[in-house]
Amino acid sequence: MPATQLLRALPSIDALLRTREARALAERTGLPRLTALARIVTDELRAELQQQQAGDTAATPGANGKPTRAELLAEAVGRLERAVSRAGANDVHRVVNATGVILHTNLGRAPLSEAARRAVAEEAAGYCTLEYDLETGARGRRGGRAEDLLAELTGAEAALVVNNCAASALLVLSTLARDGETIVSRGELVEIGGDFRVPDVMAESGTRMVEVGTTNRTKLADYERAITTETRLILRVHPSNYRIVGFTAAPALVELCALAHARDLPVYEDAGSGALLDLGAYNLDEPVIRESVRQGADIVTFSGDKLLGATQAGLVVGRRALVERCRRNPLYRALRADKLALAALAATLDAHARGATFTEVPALRMLAATRDDIEKRARAFLRRARARLDADAFQFEIIAGQSAVGGGSAPTTHPPTALIAVTHAHASAAALEAGLRQRVRPPVIARILDGRVVLDLRTVAAVEEPELLDALCALRDG
Ligand SMILES: *Cc1c(COP(=O)(O)O)cnc(C)c1O
Repeated sequence: MPATQLLRALPSIDALLRTREARALAERTGLPRLTALARIVTDELRAELQQQQAGDTAATPGANGKPTRAELLAEAVGRLERAVSRAGANDVHRVVNATGVILHTNLGRAPLSEAARRAVAEEAAGYCTLEYDLETGARGRRGGRAEDLLAELTGAEAALVVNNCAASALLVLSTLARDGETIVSRGELVEIGGDFRVPDVMAESGTRMVEVGTTNRTKLADYERAITTETRLILRVHPSNYRIVGFTAAPALVELCALAHARDLPVYEDAGSGALLDLGAYNLDEPVIRESVRQGADIVTFSGDKLLGATQAGLVVGRRALVERCRRNPLYRALRADKLALAALAATLDAHARGATFTEVPALRMLAATRDDIEKRARAFLRRARARLDADAFQFEIIAGQSAVGGGSAPTTHPPTALIAVTHAHASAAALEAGLRQRVRPPVIARILDGRVVLDLRTVAAVEEPELLDALCALRDG
């Protein structure tokens, strides 16, 4: 086929959009988006054909592999389908988290409680009393309910809610220490995932960082020597995602507060993980916010979607005068939380306040589950799986393993768990794992351990178990 004829065989955007496949895709994407993708696909094909032609004259004149009009259309349809599915892969999907990593950062950290989901869907999705006082009919305090609960749960005088913990650190540092010095231990200059680096946030806030001590040891006297007339704040950062062990020292928070208060300086603790209760029973050594406040920290910040188990939010609690200064900072207007987050947060805090932490808040319920609890669920799941799946192809075994807390919290805590190890007679572990991730709705995210796919039910909600089973069945069918 001569070159120009070949180019003429290229389907037009219109012809491509008229195919049965494209009409089905348009239902999903809408016609304007599909048209844009169809243009990209046909442009791409045209460019490739032109390139081939240029090569042909030199290398393969009269090559017989010239595609026909129908073949080119089929090729374009295939490319269009892949383009739509690639675009869809970037959407936010609900997934089943079978990794056993409770606060999986890439999977959205803490899953919301039933009450929090209802609050988002019902209270916040329409009009709501975000900044409205029903009693007086006048303007109310934004996030008032969440703030009151935070103060109650932490014993602090006042609270404030912003977009995330990084934002709360920026707000506090900028409000209390801009243009002055902030003293921090060299052992606490941490990087939390996603580019939150303490020195960078300090620089951005306009405070000058004064480092004291060494990586492993910082003494009270180191802080004391660093205090000048320029000092505005003493910062303590919880090294959330790592631990320094061995020859280490750091003054107790209460000692640091005594030193600071004797010099009229406030102490700010960035606690990060936001444990409202002592989780020592689950081998966690995360700071308890109420304890930090009790020991004298003047202001404390933490995340809403780590061990508090709510939505992404940055929570500021502490002395009223300091919290109110943060509220008056124009940065607060830029960093404040939205109504959906505030609704989910208030509903979750309400569960903590009612003492329902381990029954209603999913992340904490998952953390509290014992190996025995999980093994019982795994056995029941396997009974249902064996009834539906071909015993010759699929092999299951329950093995001892470890879950993780994730979200940059408690890096040394590995809750013991019971894993379901899955093997298949005709598919590799990598193929099974990819199949679960790519071929089923909702996608199932699993781990590979010692050459086998393993499923950890710790992070799979009971209502998701049928979906997990369907996913395994779909692998068999596929
Ligand atoms: C996680 C963490 C942050 C960042 O919190 P985000 O909610 O992700 O913004 C800041 N400081 C500490 C100590 C943390 O652990």
